[in-house]
Amino acid sequence: MAEPQVQHFDTIVIGGGIAGLQSALDLADQGYRVAVVEKDASIGGKMIRLSKVFPTLDCASCITTPKMASAAHHENITLFTYCNVDGIVRMGEEIHARITQNPRYVDPDKCIGCRKCEYACPVYLPDMEQGGFSAKKAISIPFSNAIPQVAVLDAEHCMLCGQCETVCPTDAVDYFMEPETFTLTARTAVLSTGFELSPVKDKAQYGNGEIPNVIDSLQMERLLAPHGPYNRVLRPSDGMEPDSIAYVQCAGSRDKSMGVSYCSRVCCMYAIKQAMLLSGALPLADITIYYMDIRAFGKGYEQFYQNAKAMGIEFVKAKVARINEGDGGSVTVRYENQDGGGIQTMDHDLVVLSMGILPGWRPEPYCPVSTDSDRFITSIKPKISPVLTDMEGVFAAGAAAGPKDIVDTISESGSAAVEAAKYMQASEPILETQP
Ligand SMILES: Cc1cc2nc3c(=O)[nH]c(=O)nc-3n(C[C@H](O)[C@H](O)[C@H](O)COP(=O)(O)OP(=O)(O)OC[C@H]3O[C@@H](n4cnc5c(N)ncnc54)[C@H](O)[C@@H]3O)c2cc1C
Repeated sequence: MAEPQVQHFDTIVIGGGIAGLQSALDLADQGYRVAVVEKDASIGGKMIRLSKVFPTLDCASCITTPKMASAAHHENITLFTYCNVDGIVRMGEEIHARITQNPRYVDPDKCIGCRKCEYACPVYLPDMEQGGFSAKKAISIPFSNAIPQVAVLDAEHCMLCGQCETVCPTDAVDYFMEPETFTLTARTAVLSTGFELSPVKDKAQYGNGEIPNVIDSLQMERLLAPHGPYNRVLRPSDGMEPDSIAYVQCAGSRDKSMGVSYCSRVCCMYAIKQAMLLSGALPLADITIYYMDIRAFGKGYEQFYQNAKAMGIEFVKAKVARINEGDGGSVTVRYENQDGGGIQTMDHDLVVLSMGILPGWRPEPYCPVSTDSDRFITSIKPKISPVLTDMEGVFAAGAAAGPKDIVDTISESGSAAVEAAKYMQASEPILETQP
């Protein structure tokens, strides 16, 4: 059997979201050779899937795409997408990461991103990149500005009809592709594995994800995005333009029943942002935010909140107890009004749940780095160097270390790059003699 391939770098960045890309670019610009390992078929993380970003309301993909392209074209950065991390260990001076390349069933060296396979494929599947609201083909490029622009075949749903193989001009389709395992070594690693939303299905009081017009906040980001599933905001059950939209805050945070007792930090601000964008998209719609406290923690955020109130968005201080399906696709919200109104109910056309932020990756048993009781990566010097973990030469950046907004994610990623560079400067360079 052939020996598994080993490739050497200065730093391995795990996670190709905005945190990982920023750390990688900051290190690569200083001349360090960086491997970025991403589990999805494209880099970009959650940010490339957002509509606009608070508090500036800049277009998210306009900011993220250039970073993705810079990383992809940087001579010191190598991207490993659609890869699983099977284990990270320190062996003497080096960190070894064992990686599995998942099969795309399309040869990335041959695919020219022409999408002919996608057009020919007869199998339609829900497109989770669009919140599950529209369809994609069983072989497709993940989304329009994905990097790399390489098609991926969904082996579970492929009918093996052979249409994609027939039309591919470069013979890139390979139904017999197997997973490949290889090892990356480096002197340092940055863990930037981000976050996931707590699943709606875990919240029985809010319908377990079975009420069609109750969606999560990332799905609303897609409805609001310029390249969203409908190009306008429509409710999923019947394609009606919603006249009344509600946000339920702390739907999965500060909630011990969900195992998330902490504040997810960004939900107040993104709900306010989405409400503002909805006011623009649907000027006649009533928008209500049910909240426990508004935590407008960053620079300019309180003003952002005040602007939303001035725009006519209604803020109701209430804990939502129950959400039920109403008549004609409506959604009934039952809540206790904290401003003295007692128990009340209200019908809305569409309800958005601000679900909690969970770690995107649990290091155990793959990597001996410690996590806190909230399962995010532990910082051993949270005040003076929050990116330091308890594994030598391994740093954490972005939402992997706790819920945070993009501003804090970028600052932390720069800090992780500085700490990694300092660590490498303090030790002997080991790559000088390697090609
Ligand atoms: C609905 C919503 C709206 C938001 N809007 C805003 C906003 O307007 N402004 C703002 O400042 N912030 C906003 N945020 C917060 C923002 O999304 C985060 O700050 C940012 O995405 C964090 O970036 P990250 O790179 O740390 O994590 P992510 O974006 O989650 O990226 C992590 C990457 O790591 C990859 N990964 C995970 N595990 C592994 C593994 N084991 N191996 C390889 N790769 C892995 C993931 O696939 C992903 O690509 C919003 C959040 C939500 C939920």
